[in-house]
Amino acid sequence: MAMKYCTECGKRISDQAAACPGCGHPNKSLSKNINRLYNGDKSIAVYLVLCWFLGIVGAHRYYAGKTGSAITMTILTITIIGILITSIWTLVDLIVGFCNISTPEKIFKK
Ligand SMILES: [Zn+2]
Repeated sequence: MAMKYCTECGKRISDQAAACPGCGHPNKSLSKNINRLYNGDKSIAVYLVLCWFLGIVGAHRYYAGKTGSAITMTILTITIIGILITSIWTLVDLIVGFCNISTPEKIFKK
């Protein structure tokens, strides 16, 4: 178990502690870990599969929590003429997804 110093009062605390026992300041690195865990719930692999098969209707963006742009993609694809735009958009998202395979937090909206 690693120890760290409280950013508020400087007391030594466990990095597993939710808050500093001395001053009650929330442990930042822990909440960051929770965010990482939350991102871990969403799989970059699922994102890429959705992007590959259903990308033009924005399925991967719904999955990533980017609902606004996902709806835009769905509407563009429904109108048929927008498919050209969404095809390119999907390709870009696919490339960006592959580039961020080890940093999924950049893809998934918090
Ligand atoms: Zn403290």
